[in-house]
Amino acid sequence: MFHYHCLNPISQVGLDGFSSLYVQTDNINDADAILVRSAAMHDLELPENLEAVARAGAGVNNIPLQKYAEQGIVVFNTPGANANGVKEAVLAGLLLASRDIVGGINWVQSERQNDLIAKDAEKEKKRFAGNEIMGKRLGIIGLGAIGVLVANAAARLGMEVYGYDPYISVDAAWNLSRDIRHIKEVDEIYRECDYITIHVPLMDSTRKMINKDAIDKMKDGVVLLNYARDLLVDEEAVVDALRAGKVKRYVSDFPNPTTAGAKGCIVTPHIGASTAESEDNCAKMAVKELIDYLEH
Ligand code: NAD
Repeated sequence: MFHYHCLNPISQVGLDGFSSLYVQTDNINDADAILVRSAAMHDLELPENLEAVARAGAGVNNIPLQKYAEQGIVVFNTPGANANGVKEAVLAGLLLASRDIVGGINWVQSERQNDLIAKDAEKEKKRFAGNEIMGKRLGIIGLGAIGVLVANAAARLGMEVYGYDPYISVDAAWNLSRDIRHIKEVDEIYRECDYITIHVPLMDSTRKMINKDAIDKMKDGVVLLNYARDLLVDEEAVVDALRAGKVKRYVSDFPNPTTAGAKGCIVTPHIGASTAESEDNCAKMAVKELIDYLEH
């Protein structure tokens, strides 16, 4: 009998069907396979019989890949399964960085006992004026599953989109709208774009790729978005650049003490892919990969 263990709660939609084929165990030591979302596995003592790990999500930096490879443990992730969820979060980030919708909502909340709120709103609303994204130039670093969806959607919203990815896959290139300009040098993204969003995996070669040197090359008043991983960005350098007015806003999906309270930062608690649809898609794909692997 085959046993699996879930390190994080995995969508029941994904587990339906799987649970009838295999037995879920609460004791990790009995597990032949582990299903995981974003829990860190680096310090986890592995069950003796472990054959496979399925990560219901895209980034695999929570898993010690090299160590598992050496032990013959197969690791799957679910490429693209949550890309639409993240794309929609990025679109929200673009708008939140451009319009003070959160400030406006907070003002209404703070004035909720005020009988003259409608009249006062007419006086106060100037404070919440913003900019439109249509016609602005968006640079996308990393044209994988998420980057391509963001590129195509932003182009449809009227943004001029530049994309940079030296390793773009045939699939991604095929799906990329013809309106997107594929840039050969990342510096051109830094120099030319009003908004820059990063969608690369965290690897040694990408760690802190958005650093002081990169920021110095950017336009004054650039807006940066990071829905990929916090360690891709030197956030101390970003906060310095926010203070100096070089960067206008930093939108990040990864809260930490550096950015959480900093002026100009808009930070969410790693919810880019937290939609019912993305969680179901990831769980279904992870489980299918496990079944395909274990049955063949
Ligand atoms: P993907 O593998 O489909 O795409 C990554 C792309 O980055 C690839 O096309 C690759 O060629 C490109 N790339 C690698 N190094 C590069 C470099 N130096 N410069 C430019 N491009 C480079 O991955 P994806 O599904 O699009 O996800 C991207 C990342 O987003 C994941 O690795 C993960 O860390 C993050 N993510 C975050 C959330 C969230 O909840 N916020 C959810 C899903 C994924």
